[in-house]
Amino acid sequence: AKYVYRFSEGDMGQKDLLGGKGANLAEMARIGLPVPPGFTITTEACRAFMRDGQVPPELRVEVTMALREIEDTLGRRLGDFHDPLLVSVRSGAKFSMPGMMETVLNVGLNDASVKGLAEFSGDERFAWDSYRRLIQMFGKTVLDIDGELFAGALEARKRAVGATSDVDLTADDLREVVTAFKQIVLEASGREFPQHPREQLEMAIAAVFGSWDTERARLYRRRERISNDLGTAVNVMTMVFGNLGETSGTGVAFTRDPSTGHAGIYGDYLANAQGEDVVAGIRNTLPLAQLETIDPTSYAALLQAMRRLETHYRDLCDIEFTIERGTLWMLQTRVGKRTAAAAFRVATQLVDENLITMDEAISRTTGAQLSQLLFPQFDADAPKELVTTGLAASPGAAVGEIVLDNAEALERTRAGADVVLVRRETNPDDLQGMIVATGVLTARGGKTSHAAVVARGMGTTAVVGAEALDVDLDAREVRVDGRVLRPGDVIALDGSTGEVFLGDVPVIDSPVMRYVSDGLEAGLAACGDEAMVELLRSVDRVMTHADATRRMGVRANADTAEDARRARARGAEGIGLCRTEHQFLGERRECIERVVLAEGEAERGAAIEALLPLQRDDFVELLDAMDGLPTTIRLLDPPLHEFLPDLTELAVSVALADADGGADLRDVALLAAVRRMHEQNPMLGLRGVRLGLKIPGLFALQIRAVAEATVELRRAGRDPRPEIMVPLVGSVRELQLVRDEAEAILAEVGAAAGLELALPIGCMIELPRAALTARRIAEAADFFSFGTNDLTQTTWGFSRDDVEGAFFADYLENGVLTISPFETLDADGVGALVATAVSGGRATKPGLHMGVCGEHGGDPESIHFFHDAGLDYVSCSPFRVPIARLEAGRAAA
Ligand code: ADP
Ligand code: MG
Ligand code: MG
Repeated sequence: AKYVYRFSEGDMGQKDLLGGKGANLAEMARIGLPVPPGFTITTEACRAFMRDGQVPPELRVEVTMALREIEDTLGRRLGDFHDPLLVSVRSGAKFSMPGMMETVLNVGLNDASVKGLAEFSGDERFAWDSYRRLIQMFGKTVLDIDGELFAGALEARKRAVGATSDVDLTADDLREVVTAFKQIVLEASGREFPQHPREQLEMAIAAVFGSWDTERARLYRRRERISNDLGTAVNVMTMVFGNLGETSGTGVAFTRDPSTGHAGIYGDYLANAQGEDVVAGIRNTLPLAQLETIDPTSYAALLQAMRRLETHYRDLCDIEFTIERGTLWMLQTRVGKRTAAAAFRVATQLVDENLITMDEAISRTTGAQLSQLLFPQFDADAPKELVTTGLAASPGAAVGEIVLDNAEALERTRAGADVVLVRRETNPDDLQGMIVATGVLTARGGKTSHAAVVARGMGTTAVVGAEALDVDLDAREVRVDGRVLRPGDVIALDGSTGEVFLGDVPVIDSPVMRYVSDGLEAGLAACGDEAMVELLRSVDRVMTHADATRRMGVRANADTAEDARRARARGAEGIGLCRTEHQFLGERRECIERVVLAEGEAERGAAIEALLPLQRDDFVELLDAMDGLPTTIRLLDPPLHEFLPDLTELAVSVALADADGGADLRDVALLAAVRRMHEQNPMLGLRGVRLGLKIPGLFALQIRAVAEATVELRRAGRDPRPEIMVPLVGSVRELQLVRDEAEAILAEVGAAAGLELALPIGCMIELPRAALTARRIAEAADFFSFGTNDLTQTTWGFSRDDVEGAFFADYLENGVLTISPFETLDADGVGALVATAVSGGRATKPGLHMGVCGEHGGDPESIHFFHDAGLDYVSCSPFRVPIARLEAGRAAA
């Protein structure tokens, strides 16, 4: 294998082999930008290193050849005592990865070449400072020596000479520091600091490879779902110096503002400094624009390079550059990270600049970014006092009183307060508090910690891993950077940025939300400034194009006319799931209770009869709201426990009443009935089609109500389009029985009204058996709708309500799961059943219409899966309709 690629040999398509940094350096060199000469050692060499415990022997030869070429071109030798060539050794994996060894600068300096550097630069202080930096970086990252030892020695020197900052140290001081550092290396590692430049280089390369496999790096990869097998590349690059006086400097730049997307040049510049100084924030940087006055020639060269990069990458880029005595060098570039708002604005700007197409523009934005823009936000203009920052784990803006445990959370919410639950970390015992809280804040844990997973599942705003927090339950206080917060103090969490503020920060609705709910004009009217207006216009263009591009329809899950109208305003093209049992929650619950508990035909008949007008009115309203659009009405699917009184509570109250001299006879009868119907595992019990077949007349009533509502609306000149959906079917026979009954009713109601009522009748596919026998089931179905929530529960054997809080966090930590299968469809398992059902169903009926109505219908990654699986539509909560529209468009683009 070839292990070494000169920058002039690679290109940006080779990120697997050369890592992100190396591939982009090669690309810059290829298009003629000034990159200091260098080469990249491939990830393959790293994999060989991991396998064999040493670098491949051929690598030495290849490195020698590549190095020799650089030396010959520049007329300098690595570590020469006269005008030495120095190099940086930089790690660079395919995905950027904190947790790995980063960079060693100034490799090649030793006791002799430090003099050569002084001579070449005419600056002895600079040379000794570079040398001490090398020993420090090399000692820490390559030799694994505690960095405090070096920092301590440097401080000691400063104290000894009365210097307040590093720059006050003279060349002689730094020479002393170098002596001290070398002593530290000898004592801590048992060996001399390597003087031989080539040995330094080889040790640094091996250290980069070795850092791929450290505990920290592996932990990071597990969290970010990056494979352990990739390995990292190593970039060896000629050193250029930004710290050679006022005509030198270094900076970072963005080709557009990555936070707002505003077109223009953004960045920071620091004269007479090296790259690490900019990041370390030791000195205050200047806005990049000021470089124009400091060094107009370099500034012009930089602008030209940035334009070249943008037209070449056709995207926003970020850049590291250095100016050495008036010469510009490009040290790094990549397609830049950006905020959600910037993503939309930049995408349409690039379209207007003829750099990308609208298809590409929608690929450059995501449903997740759109959803961030939909959440209420803190008023940008309001004064805010930042307390600390953690990881943005679950978006939203939450304001509330601090509470430290469940009891406090419940007590304060009962008293009408909004609360933020603050914990060191959360575990399943904290669930109650999390449910009532408007926000959750933890000191520990990453984006897959218990707090993060559960909060996202509940849609609660969360900031996790705010390490500066010290949550002291004994003292009932939270200390953070010298501040003490107590229960009752109000804080505000920004779940999209991870920021934590003190006090009651005003929250404003997002104009993007206004736009998706009420249209462009309303959205524009809600915009505070020009940037917002531009953002909204970008979002509108992207959405319009996504709608025109997507193949799949987008429907909403809605149970009431009000939800239906809301969904329709957001672009829903129908209802994919109306859960009729939801129409019986609350006050009407007793109606169902009576049907279920009725003894004898007569009693049951009467109970069912009473439901008819209620249901018919519900359907009239719903179908009217969705006039002209398909509306899938699912027949009753109540897990019984949701409709019956709680067995334990009822038993206790009857027993107490008995002790008091006699319980109500009705209660006693109810208790007996509830006992009779009690199920150990109601989610797998008498529900869905099973209940419909068990209780004659129940489904018939619902079907009749649908039929009569349809007749009523048609007579009024409307265009109702109901579809009847049977839940929890596992066998074609179940569906056939309901279908026969339904057809008879439809015929009867139709005949009486003098109308033809040929409503589609289909079923949910939410049991593995249904998916596996879809070929048969399709004989009796006009459509399928995948109920992926139940299908996930039944495929994994997970009871969602029981397992999520109990052990999902562990499963995410130990890698059994990479994401909750209730959030993103498990493509390998559940997805295989979906694919089986699609092909089975269409084998029987080629045009069989199919959609999905589980929560996955609103999840971006799952939507792409459904597109590929050939579904006709997704159905999701009204809130997620715009997100689904965008993702369905992206899937088709
Ligand atoms: P990171 O990924 O942490 O930015 P880099 O490898 O980019 O690590 O390097 C750290 C700093 O050193 C950056 O500011 C970079 O610009 C600078 N640097 C790296 N190589 C060189 C070099 N050959 N000459 C001058 N500065 C360099
Ligand atoms: Mg960098
Ligand atoms: Mg279901």
